[in-house]
This record gives sequence, C-alpha cells and structure tokens, in this order.
Amino acid sequence: MSRELFREVSRRDFLKICGGVAAALGLSEMSASEVAEVLAASAKKPPVVWLEFGSCSGCSTSFLNADSPNAVDVILNHLSVRYIEVIMAAQGAQTEEVLHETIEKEAGNYIAVIEGAVPTLDGYGMIADRNFYDVLKEVAAKAKAVIALGSCAAYGGIPAAKPNPGQVKPVSEIIGKEKVINIPGCAANPSWLISTVVHVLMFGMPELDSFGRPKFIYGQCIHDNCERRASFDEGMYVEKYGDTEVGRDYCLVKVGCKGPNTHSNCPQIRWNGSKSWCVAVGAGCIGCVEPSFPDAFMPFHDRLPDLALPGWAGIRADADLIGTVLGAATAIGIGVHAVGAAAKGKLGKRAAHEEQAKTEA
Ligand code: SF4
Ligand code: SF4
Repeated sequence: MSRELFREVSRRDFLKICGGVAAALGLSEMSASEVAEVLAASAKKPPVVWLEFGSCSGCSTSFLNADSPNAVDVILNHLSVRYIEVIMAAQGAQTEEVLHETIEKEAGNYIAVIEGAVPTLDGYGMIADRNFYDVLKEVAAKAKAVIALGSCAAYGGIPAAKPNPGQVKPVSEIIGKEKVINIPGCAANPSWLISTVVHVLMFGMPELDSFGRPKFIYGQCIHDNCERRASFDEGMYVEKYGDTEVGRDYCLVKVGCKGPNTHSNCPQIRWNGSKSWCVAVGAGCIGCVEPSFPDAFMPFHDRLPDLALPGWAGIRADADLIGTVLGAATAIGIGVHAVGAAAKGKLGKRAAHEEQAKTEA
C-alpha cells in the first residue's frame, strides 16, 4: 500500500495555506513564511493513524472535501498518513499489519486521530474481531497525542444520545484525558484539525479549556462575533423561517439559534472554503461543538430560555462555565433587552429596515 496518499502543492499555494494556518492559530506576529519554514523543516514526516469508530464519517468527509489547494494538502504532505480506514485501498490483514507496524516502530511519535464515539458493550463496534475500546486503548497507549475529532469522539455526540443502547462513551472516558485534545463539531471544521495538528508540531499541546478543547479555537462565544449581533442588540428577530427577515440579517435566536451558548470560531473561520457558516445562511447555530450536544440543544428550532438579563454578560464570556446543561444559566432576556434597546434609542438598524420596507412598498 502506498503510504503517500496525497499530492504535492506548489510553493505559492503552500505559502497561501500557511498564511491561513497562522491566522487560524491567532499567530499575528508570525508570518506565513515562518510557518512554512517550520513545517518544511520537519524532514521526518510525523506518522498519523486515523481510526473510525461510531460515527457517520462526516468529519472525514468534511476534512477530505476541503477546497484545494488548502491546508489539507499541506498538512497531508507533511504527515505520513499510515492508516485511515475510510479511504485506504488496503483491506483485511494488510491494514492490521500496517497499524501494528506503526504502533511498534513509531511508538511515542505518531498522532492518533479518533473519529466517532466508543461503545462500551461487547460487539457493538468491532475492527478485526476486536472491540473498538480495545483497539483505542492499544493505539492511544503509544501515541504522542490523541485528537478526538468531532463531537462523537469528543463527547459522545449523536451515538451517545438517548437511549444509547451500546453505552457509547467519548474517547477521554476510555483512555483518560491526559493526552487527548478534543476537536468537537458535527462535523468538525477542517481548519480546526489542521491548526491543531500544526500547533502540536510547532509548539506542543495547545492550551485547553475544561472540556478539553483548544482555547484558540473554542475560546470565544459565537454570539459575541456574529454578524447578526447588531440585530440582537436592537431587538430585531426572525419570527419564523421563510420570513424575509432571514435574508436581512435579523437575529435567529427566536427560531432556535444557540449561538449565545456555543463557543467556537465559526463566525471568523467559516465553512466551505471560508465562504459561509450556519448563521450566515439563516439556519441558526445548533450548538454542535458543546459537550451537551445534541440532547440539551433539542428541539433545535426552539428558542433558548427567555430569562433575566443580569449576570448574562459574565456567563457568556467564559466558555468553561457553559456546556454541561442548558437552563437557568442561559439568561438572554430577549424581551427585556429589546425594550432596553428601544428605550435607549438604539434601534437605528430597525428604523433603516422599516424605511427601506416603506420605499419598497
Ligand atoms: S442569537 Fe444567534 S443569530 Fe442572534 S446574534 Fe446571537 S449568534 Fe447571531
Ligand atoms: S455555527 Fe454552531 S452549529 Fe454551525 S458549525 Fe458552528 S458550532 Fe456547529
């Protein structure tokens, strides 16, 4: 089996990609060429083992569908991807041979990427006649770092949703938290994986929040960086899907947006080659990166609890305080906020929209 699965990219594209990686890492002082130098200097490509457990393969698809040229090409040209079940050509005993050879010969050197959650009951998920949890323990034991990619691997996600007959658990509950980096998302954004791998290669383990997520990705609340935030502040809300207000950047909180409880850089990094993201297309955020997703965020199109405003600013600023359970801690105060904004004469955007509507009529 060929161990070089991906093509080379041009120097120009390489620098462009390194610029994107530097931006994703928040390395304002580090130029793209410096990132490129560090990556190019790694003469020996770090080996990667990518395991697929209980999932829909959406994170693989997200990663492999990223636009080209992009960071995916660069990273894969600087890594030696030894084992990746969803696309490797080899089958059966041949793949097992590659896996075990990598574990033994690259002990302490390889990065394990785990996609999917782990059933803890025998027979609910197996590779080569071995339960997922045994395979995970073996691979993780000698890995340099373990990346739990996607909400299923990081927190259990949809496979662990009620009633969870296979008693599915996240990766960190099987092998401990010590060398696990959670990259949640349903699916995970390719740039999250890429920038995390670059961080591990360049600087070691990134700083994590209390949910095991890199702070440089998940350290900010979506609501604080949302392009519809001005509408929220001015009390301009979409009341139901299909309204023209969806396309006029009105806030989606009343139709279920969970942005105020969700922490990631989606508004800045965006999706599909940085072209758009959930809120921009009028879908609202469903909180897919949070530990309590999906159970605590359903129904997806019901609005967050409409509670009092006091204390809200302090809660939303700290990702570590949010995520286990929605409820009383979610204090948005939509009605109060709208009234307050009106009283302060802050409804300039609303007035502009009303004026525009009159003109159009
Ligand atoms: S509630 Fe959602 S749509 Fe409204 S400002 Fe916050 S993140 Fe944006
Ligand atoms: S905007 Fe929300 S639902 Fe969409 S990818 Fe980001 S965290 Fe997930």
